[in-house]
Amino acid sequence: MCVFKKELEGKEIDCNFSKIDYLVGLIPLDEQGLCIFHSENKTWKNENNFSHHLGKLISYFEEDALQKKIFLEDVIFIGNIENLFNNKEFKKDISFKYSQFNENIVFSSSTFKNLNFCSVVFKESVFFTNVFVKNMRFDEVQFNSKLLITESNFLIFF
Ligand SMILES: [Zn+2]
Repeated sequence: MCVFKKELEGKEIDCNFSKIDYLVGLIPLDEQGLCIFHSENKTWKNENNFSHHLGKLISYFEEDALQKKIFLEDVIFIGNIENLFNNKEFKKDISFKYSQFNENIVFSSSTFKNLNFCSVVFKESVFFTNVFVKNMRFDEVQFNSKLLITESNFLIFF
């Protein structure tokens, strides 16, 4: 079980991903006891194939009828994960709330419903190209590098 804990609005939150590992396959834990989604250890995450686990997690949220959204909150994103988000039509909302993107990320040629980037930290550049997004939220987002949007369509953007 991942040791991730945080307090949100007076409530203690723990790792949501460890609770569903029987559904998405065994989730590796790093030396500190953090799961592959919460771990900040980039080398370890790469060695343990972060993108493979992330792909399984996304598929689970997409396919399970009981899951109303693709829950990717508090995740530390690293490496080449773009194939998981590109050239796809997402039928469910995606929440990246409180997550951190440690490397460049390109969202390209996809259709999204609601995208929640509230309180997200983009340590490197983020690009949206040829995407359709119904609704995107950026409250309290932190861009440490560039935000570039080209040939995209956002119905609501705030
Ligand atoms: Zn965790």
